[in-house]
Amino acid sequence: MTSDHSVKNGWQALATLLTHQARPEQNAAGTSVNVPLTRGSTVLFPTLEDMNARGKLRYEHEYIYGAMGSPPQHELEKILATIEGGTHCQAVSSGLAACTMPFLTFLKTGDHCLLPDNVYGPTRRFANHTLKRFGVETTFYPPSLSPEKLQAYFRDNTRMLFTESPGSHTFEVQDIPALAALAHKNNALLTLDNTWGFGIFKPFEHGVDISVQALTKYPSGHSDVIAGAIIVNTPEHWKILRDTAIELGQLAGADDCWLTLRGLRTMGVRLAHQSQSALAIAQWLTTRPEVEKVLHPALPDCPGHEFWKRDFKGAGSLFGVILKADYAQSAMERFINNLQLFGIGASWGGYESLVLPTSGGMITRNYEAPTDGAGPSFRLQIGLENIEDLKADLSQAFVLLKS
Ligand SMILES: *Cc1c(COP(=O)(O)O)cnc(C)c1O
Repeated sequence: MTSDHSVKNGWQALATLLTHQARPEQNAAGTSVNVPLTRGSTVLFPTLEDMNARGKLRYEHEYIYGAMGSPPQHELEKILATIEGGTHCQAVSSGLAACTMPFLTFLKTGDHCLLPDNVYGPTRRFANHTLKRFGVETTFYPPSLSPEKLQAYFRDNTRMLFTESPGSHTFEVQDIPALAALAHKNNALLTLDNTWGFGIFKPFEHGVDISVQALTKYPSGHSDVIAGAIIVNTPEHWKILRDTAIELGQLAGADDCWLTLRGLRTMGVRLAHQSQSALAIAQWLTTRPEVEKVLHPALPDCPGHEFWKRDFKGAGSLFGVILKADYAQSAMERFINNLQLFGIGASWGGYESLVLPTSGGMITRNYEAPTDGAGPSFRLQIGLENIEDLKADLSQAFVLLKS
């Protein structure tokens, strides 16, 4: 099966930036290569005047007080804004906090927002519980709906269209430029959870207003950090986002920011390797008799493949697999339990391979998903292991599907 991925390695284009940005100025003798890890609550100033003057710089990336961010956080924010192509970034305590911040920042009681039916589960729960409690209504829309049909979901008070593309369980890729035009026509903001597309999908070139990232995934890359970020592209959006983060006490810990900066140094080579392995395994799986369909954005069976082809500069390490309808959910669970190299656990984007079921009641949904009506399904995160070892592991577990 052909794909266009081999000619697209957007990770390589980032390589120099990932190596040289977020480094201390190199002009003084004895400067460390890396940003120092500064832990702290209190920041001391020589005079009250100095303290008051620094306090006015809350919209700059200045060190004012620990709860307003540390030097590693501010260096991380600058490089993340550059990678995404936005003007400013706010780092926060988790990817989920990054998903909830745009609602808390840009909506008010009486507003309505639209979320894709394939949205990350905890974002869905936040909308159904917290947003509802504060009088913000949510409608879930089928993520593969055409913009013409999606127009019918807008109300007079719809102020935000949220997207996650591709969906991190069912991998529908959305037509982001068309959704941006639709949102703006309706006087709403377009927010994108760009976790899968970090570095290879440039949100602001495609009309996105607010981009969110789980730094927990590719940027930190070693399954040892929980952190998130929100990136915006106008001074107006930055001011209200920064004010809201300070009012909510949102930040990412200095250690986590420092580890994420370290992770970013190798993100390009890690993801170049992992995305090639992921695509090779996805293609190999399409040839397996047990497999009905592979949901990988670079393969034609994936809903919205044409938008991936048009808008993305590469592919990620996470994709979905649907088995033939002959297999029961319990057979797939046996298959998963018998994998030796694929860990069973939440998250993805680290250096190691993972597996999770995506059928059997794992995910709440209102509309039909690409994984409905076929056999059981699961998703794979492909790590840095030897690809032949990963294939051998999948092969030995496939034998147990039939037993
Ligand atoms: C993991 C994930 C999040 C949340 O990140 P955490 O740091 O685990 O809170 C948000 N969106 C997507 C698409 C994710 O995969």
